Amino acid sequence: MGSGDLYSGYIGKLIEELEKLPGIGTKSAERLAFYIIGLPTERAEKLSNAIVEAKQHIHYCSECFTLTDREICPVCSNSSRDHSTIMVVENTRDLAAYEKTGKYTGVYHVLHGAISPMLGIGPEDIKLKELIVRLRGDVNEVILATNSSLEGEATAMYISKLIKPSGIKVSRIASGVPVGGDLEYIDEVTLLRALDGRTEM
Ligand code: ZN
Repeated sequence: MGSGDLYSGYIGKLIEELEKLPGIGTKSAERLAFYIIGLPTERAEKLSNAIVEAKQHIHYCSECFTLTDREICPVCSNSSRDHSTIMVVENTRDLAAYEKTGKYTGVYHVLHGAISPMLGIGPEDIKLKELIVRLRGDVNEVILATNSSLEGEATAMYISKLIKPSGIKVSRIASGVPVGGDLEYIDEVTLLRALDGRTEM
């Protein structure tokens, strides 16, 4: 029974929807729902429009599969980036974390997940085929920057084995990154150290 049942109609429905968001428990959902209800109509509309518009306009970059509102994302369409170096990350937030350092000059490939036998997520459930297709182009190095979680390590190992026969250099970021830590929460210095200290697999 969701807490939405305590409230009638529209309030209950709003709480129910908010409760489905990641990291939002019943209490937070209630707090947010009443906050939203207390907003001036104009601000509530802005919030709901932002959600709908993001859904309508955001899709995968046709090259690296990051989330973008363009056909090709700003990184992939930048000709001064090194398109022969591809950093493989689990999600768009990880890409954003590396972009914030302003030091990485290659391009990315976003997997949208990691291999996890426990959760039933296999290689075919992430954007791995798409990476292999990209490697037919002019690629010098693939940097595996998946998280240092069990899933991230397993994914890096799997991709490394897959690419190795092609002769393309495969490297793994250094493990300065806390085990199980989401890349997005790690500071820029740590990220850069992990990138600079990468080792060939
Ligand atoms: Zn892209």
